Amino acid sequence: MLVIEEAARAERTHFRDELVRQGLLVATGVAGLFGYNEEFEDTVGRVDRQVTALGQADHPEVMRFPPTISRACIERSGYLESFPHFAGAVRSFDGDARAHRSLLRRVEEEQDWSAGFAPTDVVLTPAACYPVYDALTGTLPDEGRLVDVMSYCFRHEPSDDPARLQTFRMHEHVRLGDETAIRTWHASWLTRAQGFASDLGLDARAVVASDPFFGRAGQLLAASQRDQRLKLEIVAPIASAGCPTAIISLNCHQDHFGKSFGIQTADGSPAHTACVGFGLERIALALYSRHGFRRSAWPRHICGVLGL
Ligand code: ATP
Ligand code: ZN
Repeated sequence: MLVIEEAARAERTHFRDELVRQGLLVATGVAGLFGYNEEFEDTVGRVDRQVTALGQADHPEVMRFPPTISRACIERSGYLESFPHFAGAVRSFDGDARAHRSLLRRVEEEQDWSAGFAPTDVVLTPAACYPVYDALTGTLPDEGRLVDVMSYCFRHEPSDDPARLQTFRMHEHVRLGDETAIRTWHASWLTRAQGFASDLGLDARAVVASDPFFGRAGQLLAASQRDQRLKLEIVAPIASAGCPTAIISLNCHQDHFGKSFGIQTADGSPAHTACVGFGLERIALALYSRHGFRRSAWPRHICGVLGL
């Protein structure tokens, strides 16, 4: 097992270095934080439009939020209970002139300068769907709501794997309604998501998955999530053929967000919710991994799908 993991780690580092050498990724010196060149950004944009198109027949409402949410939103979401190790909070300097001089001195001396920074009322968005629940507090219409949302997200999980980023784009279709509607919707997206990956020529498959919940209690939560098949993932090889990576996640939250954000169905019961999240950089990386670094040489039918 250790040997396989070592081999996968070496493959990931090699793939990352090659992406940087090709100019597609621009290294920043921080693990899991990259800039992108014009072509890679164009590929991400094309994938993003495909995700929009995939849900268009259902006429979702479109919402876009900046990559920060209120402290109140993350507190209500339960993220701090389940994933404190990924969370990022925004702090800002609030000192006087003396504190400012001390700040500059510490920067010059290469000391930690963050002590003079006080908490603000925003935190970094951990998943694109969170601000949607916050915005939809109240009673849903009879047919529920369906939202198309895309945002940069932050998760503190520094890694050498170019597919495990600290800041990445997630495009989601989010459904809110009664339990039956949500279960049907969640199940219906499995075929759609598999079709999406197969149209892009990716060697993808669906697996039952769980979230990386914090701590020992988190292991129980993860086991129960797997038993109930609440999280499915479409995985595809990116850096390593032997260890495929999740490119799309289909998450069923039952009435968790309905309860925590005070969202009810027309009959007054807590709403159920589900979301399908597409990792845009991961899908773009899977395309380069599968079809090669020269985008102009990708198979014609793949170029057709992406409008290249
Ligand atoms: P939930 O609603 O259950 O909290 P979510 O939709 O908010 O889940 P995930 O299911 O954790 O979020 O992730 C959605 C997709 O985002 C993943 O399938 C993956 O493609 C992408 N993703 C997740 N983490 C990373 C990361 N560190 N780097 C790049 N892409 C990521
Ligand atoms: Zn989500």
